[in-house]
Amino acid sequence: MDIPFVDLYAQYRSIKAEIDLAISEVISQSAFIRSDFVVRFEQEFAEAVGVKRCVSCGNGTDALFIGMKALGVKAGDEVITTAHSWISTSETITQAGARVVFSDTEDDYYTIDPSLIEAKITSRTVGIIAVHLFGQPARMDSIMEIAKKHKLWVIEDCAQAHLATFNGQKVGTFGNLATFSFYPGKNLGAMGDAGAIVTNDETIANWCELYSRHGGKGTHLIEGVNSRMDGLQAAVLSVKLPYLEQWNSRRSSIAAFYSQRLGILPDVVCPKVGDGRGHVWHLYVVRTKRRDRLRSFLQEKGIPTVLNYPRALPFYPAYSYLGHVPEDFPVAHIHQQEILSLPIFPELTDGSASFVAESILSFF
Ligand SMILES: *Cc1c(COP(=O)(O)O)cnc(C)c1O
Repeated sequence: MDIPFVDLYAQYRSIKAEIDLAISEVISQSAFIRSDFVVRFEQEFAEAVGVKRCVSCGNGTDALFIGMKALGVKAGDEVITTAHSWISTSETITQAGARVVFSDTEDDYYTIDPSLIEAKITSRTVGIIAVHLFGQPARMDSIMEIAKKHKLWVIEDCAQAHLATFNGQKVGTFGNLATFSFYPGKNLGAMGDAGAIVTNDETIANWCELYSRHGGKGTHLIEGVNSRMDGLQAAVLSVKLPYLEQWNSRRSSIAAFYSQRLGILPDVVCPKVGDGRGHVWHLYVVRTKRRDRLRSFLQEKGIPTVLNYPRALPFYPAYSYLGHVPEDFPVAHIHQQEILSLPIFPELTDGSASFVAESILSFF
């Protein structure tokens, strides 16, 4: 049995007629750059998330960078974020001119631990970036409380959490703004790079729109960047958006199946879902002290696994200048040695999921 980690072609096959039609419409109208297709997707996505505005851009990394510029981040500022994420979350803090301040995660949930944030706040701190990692919302109630108390802004990095909820409220609606990625493998994925900033703040949305399009076409009120979602990606995303909820619920069934089968193993820690957190299972991440041996065993059986991520952010060479040691982030540091992501995507068959689970059972 050869199981893919993600099967994008299977998703395409399931909606091929609609995708092909949408793409041919974009081509026949030469609607490649800013066009009705892009405007339409922005409106649909804003509605799906439950915010006033969605400003599309080139990718999820640009969304973070543009969002921080919109909030006025400048040299000398400090931004607090989680020690466990994809590097876009922290590299954009530096790009915006600020200093990255990492904070450790919750052992059970992998999201930033709110009880450790206040100790990281200094007179230079301007904001917090919370990441809804693996599809599980961060503790937004406590994070917003801390931000309010210290007058900080909050960005939600929702790249892995399209339509996830916290206490029944969609992620992307808590902070000053939120960012999304539509990288092909994400829960809602384009056929190339794409991203968006969402917010209820019209001033922020207008500024992001201006900045991402050279400060205004022909007006150039400010210097900006070129970061656009193209028409083909927007058309593809409009076709996929109505399926997102059903795809997320299929992910959730697979996760429940894995947890039911693997939950009996004393040497495996299955993912836990926090109170009030509506997880959308971008990734299903287990933990085991025998991670590397399990990984090779599964590889031999034709089951690919991934490390999300091989290291916690503070321990990559890019951040050696911060001089961190494992004791600074004990939780994230243990996790980096034990985490393993199993295949999970809506088109994964029951048979394949079962083969993954039974293979892991046979290893232990
Ligand atoms: C994918 C991802 C991003 C960046 O998205 P791109 O579209 O690839 O630039 C940012 N943050 C997190 C947590 C991600 O998983």
